[in-house]
This record gives sequence, C-alpha cells and structure tokens, in this order.
Amino acid sequence: MNDITVDRDPSALRRFIDNLGVAAFVIDVVSENEFVLAAINASHEQATGMKHVEVAGRSIDELLDAVSAATVKDNYRRCVLSRASTDYQEMLEFPVGQTWWRTTLVPFIDRSGRVTRLLGTAYEISGSVHQELEVMYQSTVMSVYLDESPDGILVVDSQNRIKTWNRRFRELWDIPEHIMEKNDGQAALEAVSGQVEDPEAFVRRIDELYRRLDEEESGVRIQMKDGRVLKRYSRGLHGPQGDYWGRIWFYRDVTEQERMNEELLRMSRSDPLTGAANRRAFMEHLAEEFIRAKRYSHPLTVMMLDLDHFKQINDQYGHAAGDEALKGFVAAVTPELRSTDCLARMGGEEFALLLPETAMDAAHRLAERLRGAVAALSFNSENDTFSITVSIGLASLQETDSSPDHILNYADKALYVAKSEGRNRVRA
Ligand code: GH3
Ligand code: MG
Ligand code: MG
Repeated sequence: MNDITVDRDPSALRRFIDNLGVAAFVIDVVSENEFVLAAINASHEQATGMKHVEVAGRSIDELLDAVSAATVKDNYRRCVLSRASTDYQEMLEFPVGQTWWRTTLVPFIDRSGRVTRLLGTAYEISGSVHQELEVMYQSTVMSVYLDESPDGILVVDSQNRIKTWNRRFRELWDIPEHIMEKNDGQAALEAVSGQVEDPEAFVRRIDELYRRLDEEESGVRIQMKDGRVLKRYSRGLHGPQGDYWGRIWFYRDVTEQERMNEELLRMSRSDPLTGAANRRAFMEHLAEEFIRAKRYSHPLTVMMLDLDHFKQINDQYGHAAGDEALKGFVAAVTPELRSTDCLARMGGEEFALLLPETAMDAAHRLAERLRGAVAALSFNSENDTFSITVSIGLASLQETDSSPDHILNYADKALYVAKSEGRNRVRA
C-alpha cells in the first residue's frame, strides 16, 4: 500500500482514495489556518457535484464561502492540534445544494512529527437530518396548535391512556390537574360525566365510540348542567397499516354561538317595534296550522285587526305617539292569547291573529274582548291623551278552502265590512 503522508501527485492520491467506498478527500495542511484540498474521490464527486480536476490543489478559502470555510477549517484545526481522529457533523453548501454530513478526519503525521495531511471520509446524512427537522417542525406546529386552539383537545391511546391534552380541554371540563396527570382515561371520564345534563347517555356513547374504532362524530351537542352547550367532534386514530392508535376528541363551547343564532332567528321572525311576529313568521305558521287542521278536521280561525283612522292619530298626536299606540295595542292583546296563538304585525297598523283549535264562536267572543280592551286603552301624547279603536274581521277554515290564502282573504273581506259599517266592530 502506498504511503499517502508523503508528497505525490493528485492523480495518484485520487487513485488511492477511489478504493474507499465512501465520499473521501485529502487535505494538505499548510499551516494551522491554511488548508488545501489535495484530492476528492468519485463518491465525493457524485455526492457534491464537485470535480476532482477542478478542485485539486486549491485552498479551502477559495473553494467555499467564508462562513462554510471557517467552520470547515475549525474542524481541520481541531484534528491537527489533537493529532487524533476527529468526528463531527456539518452542513455544507455544494453545487448539488445544502447537504448534511457525518465526517471523520484521520491525521497523517510525518517523520518529524508534523501533521501534514488529513484523510476525510464523509457519510451523507441529509435524508435523516431532514426527517428529524421535519419531525421537530411538525411537533412544534402541533404544540402551538394545541396551545392556541379554541377547542378543548384530548388524545387517548388504544389502552385508554391519555396521551395528550391542551389547556382549553381542562378549562372546558374543569378537571383537576392531578387527574389528568394520572393519564387514566377512565378516571378523567368519571371526573367530567357529572357535569353533563345526561351523564348516563354521555358515558354510554363514549364507551361505544371506544369500541367502534372507525366511527367519526362531528358536532354532537352536549348540554351541560351549568347551562353551557358543548359540541363534540371525535375520530379514531390509525397507523399506516391501519392499526388502531387511539382516538382524538375535540370539544367546542358553542353556548354563545347558539344564543346568537336564536337571537338572529327571533329577530328574523319578529317585528322590532312591537315584538309581535312578522308577516313571514305568520305565513309559515299559518301554512303549518292549515295543513294540520285539514288533516285532523280541527277548527282554525284567523282574525285580521286594523286600527281605525290611524293616519289621523299620527297627524294629530305625532308619529312617536302613534308608535306608542302600536306597542300598547300589542301589549293589550298579548295577555288574552294562548301560547299556540300567533299575533303578527302584517304591516303598518294592520295585525293578524292565528287561532289554532278555535272555532268561530269562541273566536268571536275573543274578538269582542280584544276590541273592548283596545278601546279602553289610553295614551299620552305631548299635551293630550287619546284612545284608539280597532276593527276586526274573522274567518274560520271551511272544507272548501284549498289554500291558506283563502282563509286570509275571507278575514280581509270581513275586516272590510267591519270598516265600512262604521269601524270599532267585529265582523265574520
Ligand atoms: P282606516 O280606519 O281605514 O284603517 O284608516 P287608517 O288611517 O288607519 O288607514 P290608512 O291605511 O289610510 O293609514 C294607516 C296609517 O298608519 C298610515 C301611517 O301613517 C300609519 N302607520 C303605518 N305604520 C306606522 C308606524 O310604524 N308608526 C306610526 N306611528 N304610524 C304608522
Ligand atoms: Mg287603519
Ligand atoms: Mg290599514
């Protein structure tokens, strides 16, 4: 075997290190701060994209950028000074791009005791470094997500051991830390089940999901005893071979969202001035009651109510007083109604009243009572008091009525009669 510690030409060196199965290179040590790349082998060329004929004999400072050169030279210097073989990992920029290496340097010492050359062998580890970085990246993203998530998250393994949970999960469920830290899924379940409105169904469903590994849940509503409403999302976790890893649970507090939805729904179905239902809500209600009354041959009566000479009221006492009268009218009528009745403001000073399960005679008596109650009201304007009257038309469902509009039309006609006969009266 040739002695590579003595000077020889680069191609001879190249032949020597080509026999090594890994990327290899030879460094000439000029001084502690000056190193020359004497040769690289074929594996090195392949891995780095450098060419032996282009780089042999050139100094490290020429070949690498300043930062890379400084780190590389530090490692070389360490080997020269320790006079022992040296291992390290390094990241280098080559024509092929950024690469990670595990490198071993072996010093060659001449007869005078000086380190003249270094033989380097290097394994490329870019793949596994990237994998490690990817795992670190993923777990960082995951832990930030867990911390910041508005959802309470719990991950349980196939043995019902708690693997991970976030701050929000403990907040939502008010579970003592010592219970979570035992990592016992069953103990945690026992700690929370008392907080839900129906603990038995809650526990039964969770047990069921632990048995049905593939079942997903999205948005199951959970009513809490303290009035909050949670929604649960859950799915099984499976490994790449389909093996069962456990289950992830998400809990979201939707109390405020539900309250707002209800509020929006209420607003979309009611008149803002008087709080009575609006025309849309009335028509929907009427359509439902019409079908029901037809199907079971039950009575159904509709009342149309229109305030008399209301234009005059506005003109005389002002629009604000008119508004007060409209509110007062609804406030006076409402206590006379059953919960299944529906009073709606159809527009302006015109109202409709839907009376399910009510035949004409009972509706007539109610209409007279309402007429009297309205006439008895008294309102204050800026410098006067005034009262109002209402005209009422009634119509009950007839066997020949084939659409809800028919009954409305008849009630409208009856109202017209009440108006034309002098107002402040009831006509059917
Ligand atoms: P009639 O006895 O024939 O029903 O006479 P009327 O004046 O009540 O009927 P008309 O339809 O001519 O006028 C209705 C009036 O109701 C016109 C309008 O100024 C008034 N009005 C409608 N909506 C409102 C409201 O929201 N507030 C007030 N203050 N007045 C309203
Ligand atoms: Mg009117
Ligand atoms: Mg009118």
